[in-house]
Amino acid sequence: MLYYSTNKSSPIVDFRQATIHGQAPDGGLYFPESIPVLPLEFLNNLKSFSNEEIALKVITPYIGDSIPLAAVRKIVNETINFPFPLIKITGSISSLELFHGPTLAFKDVGARFMSRCLAHFVQGLDKKITVLVATSGDTGGAVASGFYDVPGIEVVILYPAGKVSRIQELQLTTYGNNITALKINGSFDECQQMVKQAFRDKELNEKIFLTSANSINVARWLPQQFYYFFALKQWEEITPPVISVPSGNFGNVCAGLMAFRSGLPVSQFIAACNSNNTVPEYLATGKYNAKKAMHTISNAMDVGDPSNFVRILEIFGHDLSELRHGIQSISIDDERTKEIIRQVYAEHQYLLDPHGAVGFLALQNYLLENPGKKGFFLETAHPVKFNDVVEGVIREKIKLPLGVEEILYKRSSSISVNADSGSLRDYLAGV
Ligand SMILES: *Cc1c(COP(=O)(O)O)cnc(C)c1O
Repeated sequence: MLYYSTNKSSPIVDFRQATIHGQAPDGGLYFPESIPVLPLEFLNNLKSFSNEEIALKVITPYIGDSIPLAAVRKIVNETINFPFPLIKITGSISSLELFHGPTLAFKDVGARFMSRCLAHFVQGLDKKITVLVATSGDTGGAVASGFYDVPGIEVVILYPAGKVSRIQELQLTTYGNNITALKINGSFDECQQMVKQAFRDKELNEKIFLTSANSINVARWLPQQFYYFFALKQWEEITPPVISVPSGNFGNVCAGLMAFRSGLPVSQFIAACNSNNTVPEYLATGKYNAKKAMHTISNAMDVGDPSNFVRILEIFGHDLSELRHGIQSISIDDERTKEIIRQVYAEHQYLLDPHGAVGFLALQNYLLENPGKKGFFLETAHPVKFNDVVEGVIREKIKLPLGVEEILYKRSSSISVNADSGSLRDYLAGV
């Protein structure tokens, strides 16, 4: 498989190059030249395959001969060695729980896969790679966990000061060794801008070998298709599901659309947003108006200018009516998010996290308008990651799962940096 840049003025590259470089030199995102169509006998018989077989089948066309098959198999098996259950909540709504990985959010899949691919590629390089990543909350921990102690790789994580939950902050500041956390005095969009600017900085890139572990990196983005297949394997209804995806940077929903283009049966995709409504507004008005991110209780979706949206445009050939047909998007504010957490807990004894709650409500609204349909939402994080918010809503203490408690006693360290690209350049050049 070859990849082109969405800005169309960079050379075409293979999976190895796309992974190592993260972002294309022209500032665009890498996109596969074609989307593989999977055989019907595979798609119609998902139940007869193991998760490992499914993941391998989905990802190999994208890797091509960049990594030998035996190594891909090992990477895949290590990536998905935890469950992805689809849990029924109401007669028509199920929850696809993606929080059973080591850092309790869906980003573990992409981060584990990418770190292992990069560890494979770095063997053939004579320099160290610095992985630069901006996090709105969950990416940081997943990337730190995935890359911790990988030889030849340094990780620098930028996170917005005061805008991530306590557990999220601990998950990205307590590793040490090859993991450094930079506490940025600004928003996630500013962190993301700083990272993008660092990639464009020629002088800096001559000094150090930088790559990105945000979902702009194909090795983080593409494996997110796996859990849509794992969900369909567990789907017992005759008609295909409506799938609601809590969205911020739009990498996850975009991966779902790729799975759909590969032949996975889906009745409708919904991108569920919090008050950061750039995409819902674009679909309604046809005008794309990037905004400053607003802080909400579903902080991992506080994105005002989603970087993967350009890939979604690419999938739909930049045709607005095709796009409106293929994906719906709605915005849900914090008040309604809290109300649905309370209600679902009281009525169904199921505890949503604030991100999953946005997904749940978007799906419930859609199903009210489209009676007879059924679907699931992606429960993208464990509620305990947001215990301050969730406990305040249900007025009960929630128990920390095993393995989370110990993080509260670890030593946390980060470096404070101003929200401007010069400060980041100075820091990186000194590394
Ligand atoms: C990152 C994240 C999202 C948003 O995913 P995108 O791929 O950026 O749209 C949603 N929920 C949680 C818990 C997250 O960590």
